[in-house]
Formats: sequence, structure tokens, C-alpha cells
Amino acid sequence: MHYKLTEEIIDLSESDQWDFAKLEWSFEFAYYSDESQSCLCGHYPIRNICVIKNKKNHKITEVGNCCINKFLSIDDGNKIFTSIKKVRDDVKGSMSAVVLDYLYRKKGISDFEYQFYRSIYRKRILSAKQWEIKERINRKFLNFTSYETNSHFNKINKVLKWAQNNSFFNTDFVLSLKRSCQQKGRLTENQLSALNNIIQKFNI
Ligand SMILES: [Zn+2]
Repeated sequence: MHYKLTEEIIDLSESDQWDFAKLEWSFEFAYYSDESQSCLCGHYPIRNICVIKNKKNHKITEVGNCCINKFLSIDDGNKIFTSIKKVRDDVKGSMSAVVLDYLYRKKGISDFEYQFYRSIYRKRILSAKQWEIKERINRKFLNFTSYETNSHFNKINKVLKWAQNNSFFNTDFVLSLKRSCQQKGRLTENQLSALNNIIQKFNI
């Protein structure tokens, strides 16, 4: 099972030696999927999904949390899933400091929200207004890591993967969608329908 993962990752990497190939990969995003998916290792079903990116050739792929921890020694995914669970169970709960930083870096929250969350960190007594803001930021975090948002990424990545073998296709537009999705956390209705048109037209 795990052998399959190493094979798949080496295929997508520049190096053909696992020990070096795995170092080419870094963590991009984590999300919780409402639909069951399969991991590269063949494991099914998985819900906690990490998007990883190759630093040398910029290829992107997704793996289940199982493999992220065992093989890629990237533990960001785990921290994010722990915080997702915590905030899903109690919307007044706190995401961890590492996750707050991640969310801010990925532009999932504003400067104000980031500073605010830091200023109330570990405080148990908050005003009604402060609780309200904290909950709003927690909801933003859940939204940011939800399947709906990330299904936009799934679609974009699917097209980009397909384009690797179909060099006639100009990826500029899809790459611009991806940048926009990374900034705003999701695509607009218009962007999404343009993307869906591409998928339909080329039967991807
Ligand atoms: Zn796996």
C-alpha cells in the first residue's frame, strides 16, 4: 500500500530516489472533504486531505493525512485537522497559534482579524462583541478549509494535471484562476462557470 504512494510521488518528482524525491514537496493546503476520496496510497475512504506542491517542478497533488505523516514528514496538516475538529465541535473554541498563522498567510483572514485573534488568545472572559468577532473568524476558518471551497481547487488542479499531458492547452487563464482562488479562498460564480466550461469542452 505504502509502496504505491512512493511510486506515485516519485513519478511526479524530479528525483527518482524516494529519499530525495520526498524533500521536493511542501505543504500547500489542508481541507476536510464531505465526500470520500482515495489517497495516492490506495487508502479509501479519506476525508482529511492535504494538497502538496513540488518545489522544483510546481506539480500539485493530494494525499490523505495518513501518508503526509508517515512519509512526507510535513505535520502542518495534522495541526490544521486538530483545529478544524476543535472549532467544529465548539465554535467558541480556539484554533492553535500555528493554524492562525497559516490562515493569515494564506489570506484567509484580514490583518484586523489576525491581530484581534492574537489579542484575545487564551482569554476566557470576553465581551459579547468580542465573542461575536471570534466566532466570525472561526467560521471563516471552517469555510476556508471546507470541501466546497477546496472543490474549486480540486477542479483547477484537475485541469492543470490534464494540461501536463495536453500541451496544446494554454494554462494562463487557469493559473490566474488559481492565484485568485488562493487569495480569496474561493472562485466567483463567473470564474467557476468559466472553469466548468473548460472541463466540459475538453471532457476532462
Ligand atoms: Zn495514504
